[in-house]
Amino acid sequence: MFSAHEIERLSQEFETKTPQEIVQWAVGEYSPNLAMSSSFQTQSMPLLHIVSQTGRDVTVFFLDTGYHFWETLMFREQIALEWNLNVFDLRRDPRWDVFVLQNIRKLPVDDPNLCCYLHKVQPMQKALQGVKAWISGIRRDQTETRAHAKILELQDDGLLKVNPLLNWKKTDVENYMKDHALPSHPLLEKGYRSVGCAPCTIAIGADDDERAGRWAGRGKTECGLHTEMFKKKKLSEIQREFNLEIK
Ligand code: SF4
Repeated sequence: MFSAHEIERLSQEFETKTPQEIVQWAVGEYSPNLAMSSSFQTQSMPLLHIVSQTGRDVTVFFLDTGYHFWETLMFREQIALEWNLNVFDLRRDPRWDVFVLQNIRKLPVDDPNLCCYLHKVQPMQKALQGVKAWISGIRRDQTETRAHAKILELQDDGLLKVNPLLNWKKTDVENYMKDHALPSHPLLEKGYRSVGCAPCTIAIGADDDERAGRWAGRGKTECGLHTEMFKKKKLSEIQREFNLEIK
């Protein structure tokens, strides 16, 4: 168990380490109480590959929102099988089922923050209660929020978030993919350079920002897993924020 001060120092030290070295450290210190999350899109492949190469059993959480492209679900199956990954699907709390089913078409459009909260943030919060460290594949060059992230982030509840790819650029991902001949998400060739849920992802041009096709035109860039929203754990806070009633 590291103190907040030690985590801060290690995080600084890791700024010059490779993702492989950071993953090795995390696996050595926290396995088997360690999990990673993955959306199984093209840019997820290097981190999944690096983790699989450690030979250690790391649970991979996949957020099965119910809104994914068929291609994503098939790709997830293929990679999990070929790389022998221990993938665990996370789904929304069934208490939301009636509300979601009544609003299934309009929810991602009318209130994407609530939709992401129900389908991504809350299931991930629950799953991570069982582990001590969480490996995530975010990069500083992806969004303004991610630009301020640290390689190691200790949450108030003691969960350590490990971001090994933080200093990688898009080209590092491409080079790793090429060097290791990794497969791409099937929708990449159709212009989907960042792939999330189908109602919130569009194809983009070659010169567009990598994440320009996510929640395009809706003033949203993050699902909430890597923002302040993730720290809101009390249902009452969420109810207030979204003006919701849940029994
Ligand atoms: S990405 Fe869109 S469909 Fe998926 S959970 Fe978020 S708002 Fe809902």
